[in-house]
Amino acid sequence: MDRIIEKIKERGYPVIADVDGEDTIVVFGVGYTPFLYLEDEFEIGAFYPASHEAYLFSKSLADGESVIANPKCDYKKIAEKQGLGVRGANDLIFTPEYGSLLSLGAVRLKNVKMKISREVEPLGCEKCGICTKLCPAYALNGGFNYDKCLRRQMDDGIEDWAQPMLNKSVLGCNICSEFCVKNLKDRVRPPEIMQKILKIDEFFERALSGRRALEELGDIIGRNMIRPGRMLTLATYALKDLDEKYLHWLDKLYLYDDVRVKRAVEYVKSLKKDK
Ligand code: SF4
Ligand code: SF4
Repeated sequence: MDRIIEKIKERGYPVIADVDGEDTIVVFGVGYTPFLYLEDEFEIGAFYPASHEAYLFSKSLADGESVIANPKCDYKKIAEKQGLGVRGANDLIFTPEYGSLLSLGAVRLKNVKMKISREVEPLGCEKCGICTKLCPAYALNGGFNYDKCLRRQMDDGIEDWAQPMLNKSVLGCNICSEFCVKNLKDRVRPPEIMQKILKIDEFFERALSGRRALEELGDIIGRNMIRPGRMLTLATYALKDLDEKYLHWLDKLYLYDDVRVKRAVEYVKSLKKDK
């Protein structure tokens, strides 16, 4: 199974491994550089293309018998135990190579017992606390609280308290990672197709016409991430802070057959009426 480790190293991904019963879980990290978005674009963090890359790479290593792609287990726990990185106050794994700007991927090696570990320096979060202050949902006060994290809200439905905290992201939240002092680096523009599809008017046009119109985006971030109802819900909440010229979308959005979107429209309209 050394060939699997070699293939991961050839990509330049940091890698560790740990025994799991009769098998071994190999965990690697795919790094990314945060994206820079313009005023007239919705946002999707650079984490998502990296996560899709990790998923596809794991699949490319697998043979379905002795090497299983994307096993279900706690990658962070294994990464922390074997020293791929250390866990920060934002609950993410920090590696010397990428800070926490990475997505973890893994494969299961059947009937192989292998350990690969390394030493990593402590992070010093106790002297910092910046991510705790920046988290809009106060999800990092007193340790990471998954129930309060906006990622969970975005997956499971937006509760009333979270509505004002949503920004221009139409998928996930990455504030505690992208603004961590250990991760500071110049941002890059997202791939051209993302720039095009995430233009605010273009995005509404496509998402309202259905999943197929978002497939090119799915090629970059993974087709399972393309859920028009969920993305339109977040895009609708974003209208609360956007230029008035986009508010004409609210009427079309209200006709979209999804209660989450209708609720978001009502929320935004209520704010505009109060002004
Ligand atoms: S992902 Fe966003 S909401 Fe969740 S802990 Fe980080 S900053 Fe807070
Ligand atoms: S912002 Fe500071 S406290 Fe938060 S993860 Fe980064 S180093 Fe740790």
